[in-house]
Amino acid sequence: MERENVWLKYGEEDHKALTELAEAYRQFLSAAKTERECVRESVKLARAAGYRSLEEVMASGTGLKAGDRVYADCMGKALALFQIGRAPLEMGMNLLGAHIDSPRLDLKQNPLYEDTEQALLDTHYYGGIKKYQWVAMPLALHGVVAKKDGTVVDVAIGEEDSDPVVGISDLLSHLSGEQMEKKARVVIEGEDLNVLVGSRPSKTEDEKKEQVKETILSILKEKYGMEEEDFLSAEIEVVPAGRARDFGLDRSMIMGYGQDDRICAYTSLVALLKAGSLEKTGVCLLVDKEEIGSVGATGMHSRFFENTVAEIMELCGQYSELGLRRALARSRMLSSDVSAAYDPNYPSVFEKKNSSYMGRGLVFNKYTGSRGKSGSNDASAEYMAVVRRIMDDNQVAWQTAELGKVDVGGGGTIAYITAQYGMEVIDSGIPVLNMHAPWEIGSKADIYEATKGYAAFLKDA
Ligand code: MN
Ligand code: MN
Repeated sequence: MERENVWLKYGEEDHKALTELAEAYRQFLSAAKTERECVRESVKLARAAGYRSLEEVMASGTGLKAGDRVYADCMGKALALFQIGRAPLEMGMNLLGAHIDSPRLDLKQNPLYEDTEQALLDTHYYGGIKKYQWVAMPLALHGVVAKKDGTVVDVAIGEEDSDPVVGISDLLSHLSGEQMEKKARVVIEGEDLNVLVGSRPSKTEDEKKEQVKETILSILKEKYGMEEEDFLSAEIEVVPAGRARDFGLDRSMIMGYGQDDRICAYTSLVALLKAGSLEKTGVCLLVDKEEIGSVGATGMHSRFFENTVAEIMELCGQYSELGLRRALARSRMLSSDVSAAYDPNYPSVFEKKNSSYMGRGLVFNKYTGSRGKSGSNDASAEYMAVVRRIMDDNQVAWQTAELGKVDVGGGGTIAYITAQYGMEVIDSGIPVLNMHAPWEIGSKADIYEATKGYAAFLKDA
């Protein structure tokens, strides 16, 4: 069942709406390079759309009613947004979920050292990266430093035109004879991902051994008021420096860091923020830690979402233990994560009939997983039929896919976790090229269709 390239059916109005949406997304992507920044930017957009925090609603003592909009923030790294529907919550919710963490390099707890008059930061990579892709390119530092006195300082270096950038050196080709014989997996090894941050020794009265490191420490002290020990309670992520850009001479695509899975997070968020009155409560769930197994308090395996639903039901005057169980079990979810876009440079890993293609719209993956669907949430045929109907009724361009050929590889998402409540969940999302590379590519048409598809789901599921 070949799907049409959706660009062919667009008129002027579609082009205008698509371009506006893509531009807003490009700005979001440039501003939100960590899970914390994603939460911060999403909260800004939500508040502008009339959302209040759960704490504000609880303190106000007014409770919640149909049409009200509320968000709950989990440690600044995960976010759940609710638009209360007309139906009681125990009839189930319509959920849009995506993750907002992306592969990157994290600074170690004791990162800073000097070697031969260079100051370097030691890292531990996060998520599945091809390590050789992270050398010889401009990198930026994003994150927070939490001090003992309770203050938390935001760090962002490398994004403004006037900022310096940092980076990891690569071996010159002239001396790479031995290196080039190595397997790609070990050409650059994890322990060697050391970020060069300085080379100027400080002039001090007492001849210190590590004067370049001293220079860096004095800059950090001046700019962020931090001591070397404060690295112990910091979360600093090393990410590609620079803004997301229009990609292609026809500007049909966007290239940016972290589109896995912020391309699905942003489109899900926008669909909820722009929703009209809803029969069932609409939810957008943006979670952390998917790239390392959805673990921790801010990952999908935590009780954050379940506890938040309990709070929302209480504020609606509808809480009971059984009511909560029913609300979760009767919910429907589009669990969105990026799909591997068919890549003509690498045809051997794709099976053409069951691949996703850029420009053919929102992707549904009945199942994911690897080696015999292992680790997959296999959505039911009945639910897939419901989704087909909703998308077709609302003229959304959509396609189906699995991630690559059988036995070539595979991937996981958060779908199997919410499925544990007994709710209907299907994997969906947007195709990208270069998934997990420092710069990923997505199609503007798919961003547009996904947003339409998510809006249709909130309204009609
Ligand atoms: Mn993902
Ligand atoms: Mn991923």
